[in-house]
Formats: sequence, C-alpha cells, structure tokens
Amino acid sequence: MGKKRKNRGYSKGSKGRGDTVQCQSCGAVIPRAKAKKVYRRSSLVDSSLAKELRKQGAYIAGVENISYYCVSCAVRLGRYAPRAEEDRRKQFKKKRWE
Ligand SMILES: [Zn+2]
Repeated sequence: MGKKRKNRGYSKGSKGRGDTVQCQSCGAVIPRAKAKKVYRRSSLVDSSLAKELRKQGAYIAGVENISYYCVSCAVRLGRYAPRAEEDRRKQFKKKRWE
C-alpha cells in the first residue's frame, strides 16, 4: 500500500511515544512530533528607539515566545500550506527509489 507521507506526518523517526503539547489556537492535545513549532521574538522597546540604543552599545532584551500549533490550525493560520498531491508523491518517490 502506498504511503501519503514518508514520515507519517511525524518528525520523531522510529522513536517511540513522545511528549504531548497543547495547540496554542484550539487547545487540542497533540504529540510534539506532529505539532508545528513557531518561534517569535519580540522587542519591548520601539524599533526606532532600539536601533539608536543599540548604536550606543546597549543590550536590549527581547521576549522569546515558542508556541505549538496543530496541523489544521497551522494551515488555517497560514503558517504552512499543503503541497499539491503531485509534489508530495514526486518528493516521496525520489527519496525512496534513489
Ligand atoms: Zn489547533
């Protein structure tokens, strides 16, 4: 039987059961290996002011935010777009038969 995805939609390889995380958007509990991780770094200071402060040699701390999304939410929010069926198959076949 053919497979739709080489890695079954996981990023864990042959590792067994992994941790679970909660989707930031809908709250669903999903395996971490299946979740889409989004890293965001935001500055507390206004960008133009931060530029000037940095010029004078100041270190400006930022807020780091890591959030996880389930696949359906990641697609809905525009983080990831599904590839065409043709592209998915081509990539899979290339890796498998090479
Ligand atoms: Zn979700």
